Amino acid sequence: MASEDEFNLLVIVVDVNPIWWGQQAQRDPEFTLSKCLDAVMVVGNSHMVMSRTNKLAIIASHCQDSYFLYPSKNWKAGGGDGDVLASSGDGKYELLSVANNLIAEEIRNVMSTEVKGHSTDTLLAGSLAKALCYIHRVTKELEAGQEMKSRILVVKAAEDCALQYMNFMNVIFAAQKQNILIDACVLDSDSGLLQQACDITGGLYLKVPQKIALAQYLLWVFLPDGDQRSQLVLPPPVHVDYRAACFCHRNLIEIGYVCSVCLSIFCSFSPICTTCETAFKIQLPPIVKSKKKKIKPSN
Ligand SMILES: [Zn+2]
Ligand SMILES: [Zn+2]
Repeated sequence: MASEDEFNLLVIVVDVNPIWWGQQAQRDPEFTLSKCLDAVMVVGNSHMVMSRTNKLAIIASHCQDSYFLYPSKNWKAGGGDGDVLASSGDGKYELLSVANNLIAEEIRNVMSTEVKGHSTDTLLAGSLAKALCYIHRVTKELEAGQEMKSRILVVKAAEDCALQYMNFMNVIFAAQKQNILIDACVLDSDSGLLQQACDITGGLYLKVPQKIALAQYLLWVFLPDGDQRSQLVLPPPVHVDYRAACFCHRNLIEIGYVCSVCLSIFCSFSPICTTCETAFKIQLPPIVKSKKKKIKPSN
């Protein structure tokens, strides 16, 4: 189906927030981070064996940084063209087992780093930005006549972080411009930010009904690429909450004030935009002296 000159890059971003996974291990010892990564490796391996021209990257999104699990710095073989299907003695595809071992080693390194500072939120916007940069780099390395389709799959665990709203939206619109799908597989509470990301970029959003069956959901729903999906009956789209978070308090608001210069959103009026420091010379409504009186337009 795919020609030799058409590449398919799948970037998987896994939320490895140590606080969330620590709590999860207590809530449900059956489904731990290592189980989650096993499922991610299953889908990663499946993607690699589907076609010789398929490419894979896996990024761990932590609350301090984002780390490339694959390809990692310790990874020597440059993409391993053609070697994927060379099977070793025990029937395993050698390159895949090497890759899996490296991923497991990388994640051990990541999770053993000491958590510094007070940040407890997963730096998801940063990880997505890294994913876009990586896709851009791989695209630049293509030879003339080669084409690449790219998509990002986010496996999300911890809660959304309203502080990242602006960065997140910028990443989503950058992905949309590059025709990069963002898919989201959510393990716990729904993510308004990812619902918007999937809706805007044409990706799929799914909150898994059973965490323990993660590998099955990943394989059935997220392994098929954008073209194959039109032939499948997939979970129906979710209702997307498009409310924006105000930049002053990070509350979700329906009606607010928008800076005409930088498009920052505020829940209450301020004469100076706190983002771009533009001063607004507009007529304020007259100050009402009595609090009991309702505001009426002045004559
Ligand atoms: Zn506010
Ligand atoms: Zn502004």
